[in-house]
Amino acid sequence: MRRNFLLGLILTSTLGVVAALAAIDKNKLLVPEQVRVAIVRDSRELDLAIHGSYRIRDMLSGKVIGKGTYLTNSKVRLLDKGILVGLDVYPSKRLTIEPSRDASIIIDERPFRGEVTLIRTPDNRITVVNVINVEDYIKGVLYHEVSHHWPMEALKAQAVAARTYALYSINPAGKPYDVTNDIYSQVYGGRNSERYRTDLAVDYTRGLILTYNGQIIPAYFHATCGGMTEDARELWHLTDIPPLRAVPCAFCQNSPHFRWKKNFRLKEIQDALNLHGYKVGSIKDISVVDRDRSERIDHLKIAQKNGQDFIIKGKDFRDLIGPNVIMSNNYEIVMHGYYVDLIGKGWGHGVGMCQWGALGMARQQFNYKQILSYYYPQSVLMNYHELQKSEILKDSKPIHP
Ligand SMILES: [Zn+2]
Repeated sequence: MRRNFLLGLILTSTLGVVAALAAIDKNKLLVPEQVRVAIVRDSRELDLAIHGSYRIRDMLSGKVIGKGTYLTNSKVRLLDKGILVGLDVYPSKRLTIEPSRDASIIIDERPFRGEVTLIRTPDNRITVVNVINVEDYIKGVLYHEVSHHWPMEALKAQAVAARTYALYSINPAGKPYDVTNDIYSQVYGGRNSERYRTDLAVDYTRGLILTYNGQIIPAYFHATCGGMTEDARELWHLTDIPPLRAVPCAFCQNSPHFRWKKNFRLKEIQDALNLHGYKVGSIKDISVVDRDRSERIDHLKIAQKNGQDFIIKGKDFRDLIGPNVIMSNNYEIVMHGYYVDLIGKGWGHGVGMCQWGALGMARQQFNYKQILSYYYPQSVLMNYHELQKSEILKDSKPIHP
């Protein structure tokens, strides 16, 4: 898994999120059960079909302004006076389509559960948000994270981590959506991504999330750590969250990503650096300055033929060459004249659960609770409904200002 995490989000305390939610509607649950996923962003038009009966509501007034029993595939476009759906114009900037229980909404040929909101953006494009129960959302995510053929305990561990991360990401005060459906959040494919065994893993762990001190943790995960997970403090300079500390991992050695090797022309690296604002001439040598405690590279030294050296952070170097090109920050450097080999271990940022390690643990008969408490040390597994009650008791002031 690759994530480009928003540091602001990481730094937002869960308590803050909970308090903000409560301020919006005191009577509603403190941890919402629904996630808002942006499934189309800034599009000029899209295809919409509704298999079953539905109502269309204007979000600003709350009024129902349309209904039907079936909608054949129709174009959605913006007009000056509103949103065009097929032949009907709805005078609204934000429409929610509420399907009846058995109906499903198909956007650009992909079926989705839950409600869908069509939003007119300030620059006159259409953004589509799927408002979906968190359990259904996780069912549409797991298939993209792990193989649905993996042992059930590994799938359950992944379900809990994905649910925790989704609930951690909910941000009601900000954008009209909480997560996107691409690699910047968790890849989400709607109903097409549901599989029997991943659905079971979600059902078996229904409502369970990882917490620390009664708060939801940002339960990061990654494909393969390569021998030791990364401490979030060292990579992102976060405050200490014990569940995101580094742990040794002897379980991912069978991962196809455990070892990797990439070859580059030095000119390619020079060009990539220049493209990202560094002023670099011909490169003579690249070497490691220092590594953190998990052996991942902290800083690199780039020596130029003109005699000038400069230092770059290992994380920045990986980001600008491409995080799926340089698979991890744990590698050796071997120079060959005009070329350089990077010989590395693992794939991903390394923080939190190692997915291939979870697979290895499950194959050695560890259960999902053991897997989660190994990769998220000191975390406490709880049902998020319990969390709501404890937060109400603990934090009553901001909730009833
Ligand atoms: Zn590992």
